[in-house]
Amino acid sequence: MEEKERAKRILVVEDERNIAAVLAYNIRKEGYECDVAYDGEKGLEMALTDAYDLLLLDIMLPKMTGFEICDQVRMKSQVPIIFVTAREEEKDRILGLETGADDYVTKPFSFKELMARVRANIRRSSGEVVKRAEPEKTVEPIRVGDLVIDREHYSVTKGGEVIELSKKDYDLIAFLAENVGVAFTREELLEKIWGYDDYYGDIRTVDVTITRIRKKIEKDSSHPEYLMTKRGVGYFLCNR
Ligand code: CA
Repeated sequence: MEEKERAKRILVVEDERNIAAVLAYNIRKEGYECDVAYDGEKGLEMALTDAYDLLLLDIMLPKMTGFEICDQVRMKSQVPIIFVTAREEEKDRILGLETGADDYVTKPFSFKELMARVRANIRRSSGEVVKRAEPEKTVEPIRVGDLVIDREHYSVTKGGEVIELSKKDYDLIAFLAENVGVAFTREELLEKIWGYDDYYGDIRTVDVTITRIRKKIEKDSSHPEYLMTKRGVGYFLCNR
């Protein structure tokens, strides 16, 4: 019961103190608790205490980058991670999502936009906790060709081998498997998987995630046999 009442806690790792202060101020104003770390090492140490419901990470930090923090945290936890950074090159976005971040916001950003993403990510991850706590309902695994999507254990295997997937990877592939053969636009996927409306989301996030999953499940990711592109529409999972 107490668990439900607890205010969600957010960790901000940001070395620019004025930005950190403004972030913390706005986060607290929204009713969340907020702690701040000013360097990468301290940030990682705090993140690993498991006391947080979401991490907001800068990339360029003293002692350890945001990418490294994300990498280390992902070995232990599926806590939502959003990068907040001045770097907006495509490769940084991709690297961020590849290290297992859930999203990416570039400076300058509006607090309205940032908080919409924070809320969406926290809502998604606590929704999952509720789902997992429901013991009576058994969900059958979905089989698509060699792929087995085990919705009870949130895992995917191909030909019996476990595929390492991030939470978003899993959510996306499970959603497409539940609707096998049906194509969804990137905007629809952004809304369904990330919980964003068009205005706040960036459809490239969907493309990067699709590319990442293809590398894991396809024999040749440039000629996919499972995760297909429907030209002019979007993506679908092919029932082979
Ligand atoms: Ca910085």
